[in-house]
Amino acid sequence: MSEKKSTEDVIIIGSGPAGYTAAIYAARANLNPLMIEGYQSGGLLMLTSDVENFPGFPEGIQGPELMSHMRKQAERFGTRFIQKNCTDVDFSRWPHKVHVDNEVYEAKSVILSTGAATKWLGLDSETRLLGKGVSSCATCDGAFFKGSPLVVVGGGDSAMEEANFLTKYASSVTVVHRKESLRASKIMQDRAQKNPKIKFVWNTAIEEVLGKDAVTGVRVKNVKTNATSEIPCDGFFVAIGHEPNTGFLKGKVELDEKGYIILRNRPTTATNVKGVFAAGDVQDTVYRQAVTAAASGCQAAIDAERFLESLH
Ligand code: NDP
Repeated sequence: MSEKKSTEDVIIIGSGPAGYTAAIYAARANLNPLMIEGYQSGGLLMLTSDVENFPGFPEGIQGPELMSHMRKQAERFGTRFIQKNCTDVDFSRWPHKVHVDNEVYEAKSVILSTGAATKWLGLDSETRLLGKGVSSCATCDGAFFKGSPLVVVGGGDSAMEEANFLTKYASSVTVVHRKESLRASKIMQDRAQKNPKIKFVWNTAIEEVLGKDAVTGVRVKNVKTNATSEIPCDGFFVAIGHEPNTGFLKGKVELDEKGYIILRNRPTTATNVKGVFAAGDVQDTVYRQAVTAAASGCQAAIDAERFLESLH
């Protein structure tokens, strides 16, 4: 292990819209932030195509381009980047320690913005057709399916919300669920079941997403009878949950039962650890939008700045 000599004012771990926005604000506040970007910088938006709902881009913008702009803006004000993953943190003593492989960095404040990962079914056809009709974000991609038949998989609140939202555009939405009852809250179930454009297919698993260059349907299997059939569709939305990227934070900062970081003192971004703040999807179970992530990154940088001032 090699320990860095100087103590950083702020280290930002994670590089989606939350992390980059935190970096822009921290850098402009002369905190000279160090960002641990990860090997795959940019976060979930690197996986999307057109982003039409980020304010300021009336014609829309590609997800990777938006992230590249944010990174450049953070760099312009002096953010330093390490393109590796954070492997461990030690918040047991202050200043905090952040491990990147064999290097150890010390920081007075840390902003956690490692995001969340979409849960996928794990089918090869799902990966191959991602962005070509397969999506995990109705808010992002729903408008591309005007007048189309769509399929949503999942039985929780996310699936109900996605299905309801998609009926604004789709000709029909078929919800495929592996059980015969939903996990979603009563109100969300009722709303979906009352929606004339939504129908349900129960006790059914997705076996394959069909299509060569674009989605044409899904092959499904009834888990009780083992009968297989095909449902034609132009878009396939996976809504089986998200997983926060907090594996390396277990036991280091307070997490809820699903692994999301708990903010102790809302509306601030403070965690239960002094000088450690969290922003973006890693602490957000409700909104999960690029613009809300960016906003909370701004809040975290301001919180870190105030914390550093309080040390004097
Ligand atoms: P959940 O974990 O609640 O639900 C996931 C659903 O996907 C379950 O029905 C589950 O099936 C199904 N599923 C999981 N893995 C697979 C798989 N491999 N194949 C097929 N189906 C699968 O996740 P959500 O994202 O829906 O919700 C997460 C949290 O966020 C919840 O607390 C929810 O209340 C909240 N939320 C709230 C919203 C709101 O209030 N507006 C909107 C969205 C989310 P099974 O039931 O069989 O386990």
